[in-house]
Amino acid sequence: MALLLCRECGKEISDSAKKCENCGAHIYIALGTSTKIRIKYNLLVWLLIALGATFIFSRVYIIGILFIVIGLYIAIWFYKFPKRI
Ligand SMILES: [Zn+2]
Repeated sequence: MALLLCRECGKEISDSAKKCENCGAHIYIALGTSTKIRIKYNLLVWLLIALGATFIFSRVYIIGILFIVIGLYIAIWFYKFPKRI
């Protein structure tokens, strides 16, 4: 567990906290997860889900479901652990 500086208020904030205890800024804002990375991950998730949907429409259900599950897994992982990215 490391202590980092909040971008909003400048106070120390634990990297395992969900928001800054001092000013209440969300961890994304407080630790400054870059917007570019967030957009990249959002695109990756939507791409995987779109590919999955395409496979399902082509009746290749197993591969389609696999793509969607991977997409959702990345989405959940990303929103749960923004500090690792
Ligand atoms: Zn703060």
